Amino acid sequence: MNIQRNIKKVMERISEAAYRSGRQPDDIILVAVTKSVNPNNVISAINTGIEHIGENRVQEFLKKEGVIPEGVKRHFIGRLQTNKVKYIIDKVDLIHSLDRLDLAREIDKRAANVDRIMPVLVQVNIAREATKAGVMKEKLYEFIESLTPFTHIKVKGLMTIAPFSENGKDIRRYFAEMKELYQKLANKKYPNVEMEYLSMGMTNDYEVAIEEGANMVRIGRAIFGERY
Ligand SMILES: *Cc1c(COP(=O)(O)O)cnc(C)c1O
Repeated sequence: MNIQRNIKKVMERISEAAYRSGRQPDDIILVAVTKSVNPNNVISAINTGIEHIGENRVQEFLKKEGVIPEGVKRHFIGRLQTNKVKYIIDKVDLIHSLDRLDLAREIDKRAANVDRIMPVLVQVNIAREATKAGVMKEKLYEFIESLTPFTHIKVKGLMTIAPFSENGKDIRRYFAEMKELYQKLANKKYPNVEMEYLSMGMTNDYEVAIEEGANMVRIGRAIFGERY
């Protein structure tokens, strides 16, 4: 496994997908997903130009975050239990997985305590999978409107995890639907919503996701190998 080479390859593919979708490579943010990756390899990735890291478990994030250099952005991408919000509220730059009101209430309260406005993405269960978290698309507006009272939350976009697929075709329409939802929300002028990030695309599907409008991809295995 060669992290440097993997990152280079991923960055090239991101660039090509960006051009195919009429954008520049710089328009796409690469979040390197470092779950189960040892700190040395995380540092190696950062030294190779990774500026964003993503973790999906609170415990693991807390163990590792001490070694992450300042300036590297930290993303929380996993399912977030309400009682764990307090541990990460002052340590992450973006939470990708807001999907329910009680979590919003807790994030708002804890963010107020540390005097910050917490940037979040609303997770959408675009393929209506029973095993996945996320708001159903027909509830999305209602959910986002219900966040209006939370003045310490800023909705910065949407996130989704596409169904597993061997061929890109089946999932392309889900990504396209996400882009449409994202665009529609950007056009509404909700007070604490400022659409900036569409987080979708992982090792198996990031090129399709970018072609359909993702501007933030979360990639683990293509960088750190299958064994993580
Ligand atoms: C693990 C994970 C990823 C990265 O998946 P890979 O297939 O390793 O690229 C992205 N997003 C979330 C939410 C994850 O848990």
